[in-house]
Amino acid sequence: MLNIVLFGPPGAGKGTQSSFLVESYGLVHLSTGDIFRTNIKGGTELGKMAQSFMDQGQLVPDDVTIRMLESEVNQHSDAGGFIFDGFPRTTAQAEALDVFLNERGTPISCMLSLDVEEEELKARLLNRAKTSGRPDDANPAVIQKRIDVYNAETAPVASHYATQGKFTGVDGMGSVEEITDRLRMAIPA
Ligand code: ADP
Repeated sequence: MLNIVLFGPPGAGKGTQSSFLVESYGLVHLSTGDIFRTNIKGGTELGKMAQSFMDQGQLVPDDVTIRMLESEVNQHSDAGGFIFDGFPRTTAQAEALDVFLNERGTPISCMLSLDVEEEELKARLLNRAKTSGRPDDANPAVIQKRIDVYNAETAPVASHYATQGKFTGVDGMGSVEEITDRLRMAIPA
């Protein structure tokens, strides 16, 4: 079973590159951001709660996010593996994911971390706002908040996996195809 954490700041290209990983490796793609947005569209209680945090560029609280993610994994009992996109975003989420996956006997295989310069991230998000309809992409102050939250709370998750020998940094600057090739090289055979 191949369980990949695709990591990196907002706008790093996690969603774009996930589609390639899903096709090539037959993985189930779990994006916590997408799941929250589906709940917002559907007007669920979870969506209403998450929206207030997302609109401000803040993280949805760990307990809710962890429970939601675990329930999604449990709904795909026949999956050959997962690509986790946007999760874990805090050290508490990473620790919970380890416990959960170890109990199932399917631990994380690797974390692939996309490195992108901050100016490029901002440009990509503002550009994405033109087509994504995402309010959190359209507002420069919210973009800055998301990058600040990433640096403060999410970046430390890399050392969680580095300690386990599972971390690989991947240059996320360049064309989509170039980055795909770099990811392919970084995935354990
Ligand atoms: P991006 O990577 O471009 O910031 P996402 O779609 O991954 O976009 O996330 C959008 C928002 O959803 C985040 O800013 C946050 O509010 C919320 N969110 C997504 N994943 C998590 C998570 N693992 N923990 C807490 N909040 C999350």
